[in-house]
Amino acid sequence: MKVDQRTTPEDVLRSVFGYADFRPGQRKIIDAVLAGRDCIALMPTGAGKSLTFQIPAKILGGPVIVISPLISLMKDQVDALVRFGFRAAVLNSTLSWEERGERLDALRRGELELLYVAPEALGDGLRARLASCAPSLVVVDEAHCISQWGHDFRPAYRQLRDLKTQFGGVPILALTATATRRVVGDILHQLGMRKPDGYKGSFFRPNLVITAQKKGHGRDLRSDILALIRRHHGEAGIVYCLSRKSVDDLAAWLHTKGIAALPYHAGLGDMERTHNQSAFARDECDVIVATIAFGMGIDKSNVRFVIHRDMPRNIEGWYQEVGRAGRDGLPSDCVVMYSWPDALAYDRFLEDLEDDEVRDDVRARTRALFRLLEGRGCRHQALAAYFGEAIAACASSCDRCSGVTPDDIVGARTPDAR
Ligand code: ADP
Ligand code: MG
Repeated sequence: MKVDQRTTPEDVLRSVFGYADFRPGQRKIIDAVLAGRDCIALMPTGAGKSLTFQIPAKILGGPVIVISPLISLMKDQVDALVRFGFRAAVLNSTLSWEERGERLDALRRGELELLYVAPEALGDGLRARLASCAPSLVVVDEAHCISQWGHDFRPAYRQLRDLKTQFGGVPILALTATATRRVVGDILHQLGMRKPDGYKGSFFRPNLVITAQKKGHGRDLRSDILALIRRHHGEAGIVYCLSRKSVDDLAAWLHTKGIAALPYHAGLGDMERTHNQSAFARDECDVIVATIAFGMGIDKSNVRFVIHRDMPRNIEGWYQEVGRAGRDGLPSDCVVMYSWPDALAYDRFLEDLEDDEVRDDVRARTRALFRLLEGRGCRHQALAAYFGEAIAACASSCDRCSGVTPDDIVGARTPDAR
């Protein structure tokens, strides 16, 4: 593989991106990539995974192919890269035949440093054309989507199975923010990675202040949520609900209480969804009430609270959703309301799963979150342990360590909260 010896990763970091220093792990991953090794990086959202292939793209001899799950996300990344002076483009289903052909020609002529591709697009024809352009690296972003043991399986990621051999043994860089040992094993296996190097960042985010509140016990769910939102008056937050109906009902009720909350779920029309999402992104509305359809690719740094009206489906999902709070590093409230009936409610989705082993695994992972929430110890410690990381108790970033009770969190209930 051709590597430009004169340009160092530090040069690119400073001259192209204007950053002074690497973040933890970035240099190690870049070194593995430049050495032509396969590599897997497990780092939480916001840790800076993109730089680990964008910098090599300026140094390596051939184009870097990036597989990314969301079309909107790819477009944002490519627009940002072009502003930084990269030669980058997207290939996805929204392009016309001509546009697609032009981009592939540009790639073959060596005019592109980065090409973002949707996994759905990777049919036989495209693979052959990409292979003939001698890519220097294939990046699989959100690599956990390849595993049915993960929380966000996407069948199209199955298309990536033989990519490495089809591209003549090209080095592969797999990136993900959530990975249990089983998911990591699946990623390595399915992508056919050979003697991969690896980096695992810390999943402990001390600025996320975690509180779990069991439903019932004389508490009123809606007025607790309202009180939490009022406590964060003028600040941005997300309220996750299990069902579309709860989203609609809660958003409407909050409106009657003077909170400008917008709903978001897959049942809304495209126009309304896009509008509500961008209103939130642009700070035009403070609160979004949503199903888990909301969030991937939201790069909003000032989310001050994430409330789960219902227990999330599993620990990975919960971690991913609360991880959308506090990306700027400032303290942020993460309050999860849960109950055993919530855990049982997920059982009805199990019927859709055909494989017995997968079904048992999915059920067990929901139960694991319930047990974690019922646990007596530090919540951050329990979360970290689930991701294979041993940390000390957080001391002050969760209700177990701080001794804070639901009443402390939502404050005294006012009559108009009813
Ligand atoms: P991830 O993919 O891990 O969620 P991103 O790659 O999107 O994270 O990076 C998150 C943010 O951090 C981006 O705004 C990026 O520009 C910024 N960033 C990444 N690396 C650095 C660095 N070394 N110094 C300063 N900012 C950085
Ligand atoms: Mg990313």
